[in-house]
Amino acid sequence: MSSAAETRAFEAEVSQVLNLVTHSLYSHKDIFLRELISNASDACDKLRFAALSDAALTGNDADLHIDIRFDKDARTLTIIDNGIGMSREEVIENIGTIARSGTRKFLESLSGDARKDTQLIGQFGVGFYSAFIVADRVTLITRKAGAPAGEGVRWESNGSGEYTLETIEAPQRGTTITLHLKEDETEFLDAWKLRELITRYSDHVAFPIRLPVQKDGKPTDEFETVNHAAALWTRPKNELK
Ligand code: ADP
Repeated sequence: MSSAAETRAFEAEVSQVLNLVTHSLYSHKDIFLRELISNASDACDKLRFAALSDAALTGNDADLHIDIRFDKDARTLTIIDNGIGMSREEVIENIGTIARSGTRKFLESLSGDARKDTQLIGQFGVGFYSAFIVADRVTLITRKAGAPAGEGVRWESNGSGEYTLETIEAPQRGTTITLHLKEDETEFLDAWKLRELITRYSDHVAFPIRLPVQKDGKPTDEFETVNHAAALWTRPKNELK
């Protein structure tokens, strides 16, 4: 079942953050991937914890991981996690407002001095909205762990004050975020570039971050784990130092 898409306005502060993020953080644009992977990792952590008391939540999909896909023709980059996911209410609360996010602290700490302000990104994650540094449209599809397939949610925005929200059929638990990259940001449609960013900023993430194996310059259906922290778990003990 799919409801008609509903259009909603961002909280005023969200528009302010979006504006700030997309304009002042451009020189640090690479950080968007770290931020989205960090959210995906948190979502996997939350599910792992919740599954301790309710194993049915992970069901037959208990290997938690984060997949990165890209499509050169469509100019899209997609971050997929099979973590806790979000209900419709949670999407409205978490993505449409900044009341709870690290972004609020970031905003409160701003000095108005662009150089100082960009240094703050290291201290506070700027979170989900950093996607709009490199994307002119972001689509988020999510389904909360334990919710039926009919309770999927599709959120979409071009980052300019409004977003649409739709209840959809979602076969998979977890969250898929598709970045429709700006024309100049095609460097992120490259396996080597993505691998480099993952090892530089997200190597410590405890869940496997996987990229499609490339063959003849094209992605295959097979995935390989890129980050070392996760690879440690799958390596034989005698190889560990
Ligand atoms: P922060 O991570 O600092 O809380 P964000 O703006 O990045 O701020 O995210 C806001 C909230 O949206 C998160 O706290 C989380 O509840 C939710 N969220 C974001 N990404 C995901 C995801 N991949 N899966 C589940 N929930 C998410």
